[in-house]
Amino acid sequence: MNIPQSSLSRVVIIGGGFAGINLAKTLANKKVQVVLIDKRNYHTFQPLLYQVSSAGLEPDSIAYPLRKVIKKHKNTFFRLAKVENIDAKNQEITTNIGILSFDYLVIATGTKTNYFGNKSIKAHSMPMKKVPQALNIRSLILQNFEEAAITDDKELRKALLNFVIVGGGPTGVELAGAIAELKNHILPRDYRDLIPADMQIYLLEGGSRVLPSMSEHASKKAARFLTKLGVLVHCNTFVKEYDGKKVSTNLSLELQSETLIWAAGVTGNPITGLHAESLIDRANRYKVNAFNQVEGYTNIFALGDIALMQTEDYPNGHPQVAQPAIQQGELLGKNLVKLIEGKPLKKFKYKDKGSMATVGRNKAVVDLKHYKFAGFFAWFVWMFIHLMALVGFRNRVVVFFNWCYNYINFDKAARLIIRPFHKLK
Ligand SMILES: Cc1cc2nc3c(=O)[nH]c(=O)nc-3n(C[C@H](O)[C@H](O)[C@H](O)COP(=O)(O)OP(=O)(O)OC[C@H]3O[C@@H](n4cnc5c(N)ncnc54)[C@H](O)[C@@H]3O)c2cc1C
Repeated sequence: MNIPQSSLSRVVIIGGGFAGINLAKTLANKKVQVVLIDKRNYHTFQPLLYQVSSAGLEPDSIAYPLRKVIKKHKNTFFRLAKVENIDAKNQEITTNIGILSFDYLVIATGTKTNYFGNKSIKAHSMPMKKVPQALNIRSLILQNFEEAAITDDKELRKALLNFVIVGGGPTGVELAGAIAELKNHILPRDYRDLIPADMQIYLLEGGSRVLPSMSEHASKKAARFLTKLGVLVHCNTFVKEYDGKKVSTNLSLELQSETLIWAAGVTGNPITGLHAESLIDRANRYKVNAFNQVEGYTNIFALGDIALMQTEDYPNGHPQVAQPAIQQGELLGKNLVKLIEGKPLKKFKYKDKGSMATVGRNKAVVDLKHYKFAGFFAWFVWMFIHLMALVGFRNRVVVFFNWCYNYINFDKAARLIIRPFHKLK
């Protein structure tokens, strides 16, 4: 893999997500050799993927080159590779471009879409976990509009304009709001041959309320905002099957739809090789101690979404959101330096900075520890936090400009079918 031998300890980081890049930044120019490996050459800012799907942002404004992240880190190398196996005994990993030895290994591989074993949903639905998948959704929405504009078949037109989103967590809620804005502001202008009332957006949630991870206050407000935008929210509704045309649920509700977007869950993205008891079956996460060491190992760590750290405050592990990943990455960087110097390590303690979701222009909900609010101010806070959290100054400027432009013009400028999406027949 063309990594020079060094007298320094080698830390190999698998995954350039929030956890991996924050660890790499903390280890910048420290007395270790760092190798950051990712199967993509960019970091993805997943919280804004839904804006790519709904033509609000171009993909390059939420992706950031990993080589640029480390450009000033003299001790760090990046390799574009997929890690396929871990050999803990020989301290080696196998990748699709070769084998690499390590002194310390950090697994920060995040999660992948969970279809809960449902083959029909996996085959026909649209996931939204990666940039190419978000682009597929964007293409399909626009292709459906184009096809609906020319068909004489009323039933087909209805199915093309029925958008079903499954999962009422922040991702589903944000995407439903954004697609509703397409219906309300773009469809009447761009597709004068279509009747906006023919387009329906369904949000199906298995639990009793949307945003189940947030407060009841946030759920109620979000549901009200969605209804105001014209989204049809159905709680206690599980999708049982989808054949690419018909959505069947646990209730009498059946929908004819050419588009089902699956935002109903994720599962860990582990790598083969570690002994089985390190993995908890349900969420597929590595069980780690308070220093993020994988159970049974002292030189192998797991961070972020792939790590299950059970504490008194978080008996089921930390929420799978960006902040635990960022905070664990930063602390592990400091702890690895201490470990090498033979100093005692610091235990991880999660600082919960609250949670938030936006439903559209002027509409968001924010839950802080002692204060919950919704509406315009919440939306402003949501925008500011997301803008600041984006990786890279250029991306912040581009996103800020886009949001201002969209706000003034009620526009979504990226409605382009660059690479048509071909549905499974
Ligand atoms: C659509 C969506 C919206 C979200 N919205 C929010 C939000 O609003 N707020 C919030 O806080 N959180 C949000 N999250 C969750 C947040 O993005 C995750 O919690 C966070 O990304 C976890 O960081 P991570 O570093 O653990 O993993 P990730 O960021 O997922 O990074 C994992 C990295 O590992 C790489 N990788 C995986 N396997 C391999 C392999 N075998 N070899 C090489 N590389 C590999 C991947 O390419 C990826 O770059 C959202 C997630 C999604 C999917």
